[in-house]
Amino acid sequence: MKKVVFWDIDGTLLNTKGAGRLSMEVAIAELTGDRTDLSALNMAGLTDWDICSRILEKCNLEPTAENIEQLQKLYIKHLPEMLLRCRGYVLAGVREILENLQQRTDVLSLVLTGNMEAGGRAKLAHYGLDSYFPLGAFSGRSRDRVEIAQRAVVLAQQQLGKVSPERLYVIGDTPHDVRCGRAIGARAIAIASGHHGAEELRDCGSWWVWDALPHPQQFLETVGLRETVY
Ligand SMILES: [Mg+2]
Repeated sequence: MKKVVFWDIDGTLLNTKGAGRLSMEVAIAELTGDRTDLSALNMAGLTDWDICSRILEKCNLEPTAENIEQLQKLYIKHLPEMLLRCRGYVLAGVREILENLQQRTDVLSLVLTGNMEAGGRAKLAHYGLDSYFPLGAFSGRSRDRVEIAQRAVVLAQQQLGKVSPERLYVIGDTPHDVRCGRAIGARAIAIASGHHGAEELRDCGSWWVWDALPHPQQFLETVGLRETVY
């Protein structure tokens, strides 16, 4: 039976150094004609649908589905340029672990992110991580990350048949990731990469906490995968 590792994107796989926020600021300026500073808005771990809704409300616009989709379209238009401009990076240990997992037949990696699909895919492609994730669960119209996690489980089951919860791992960097992982019965692994400290992540119910992703061998041991696949 395979194990399944669900990966969050921002703060877990990569750090865009603010490209997402900047794209959103340019998008909202294009939509409203006014500049809006979004730096005070803590978006970490929220879904893009929820973030767009909050931004529209902040700008005194109705957060209707139509307005949200219009804002998302503008955001996607500006994101590639902002990704280039902001010079973010892939977090330490990510490429080594993903490369290792991709070679194995006993584990499946999927994206589980609050990003809208076009945005999440643009980020993965920009940093050369897209080939590791043919499949993923994205924001869609979900305001709650738990819904995304439930869709991620369905995706995994479409690939593998029934997968028992103790074979599922959710890796993220915020209490939202931990909460959605626990909601689907998965083991939540938290990376204290910036927004939230190790203690806070431990206190909110993480199964495991790292300050940064470890060497692939240690990663495999933690998620209960043998070093060599026979
Ligand atoms: Mg994150």
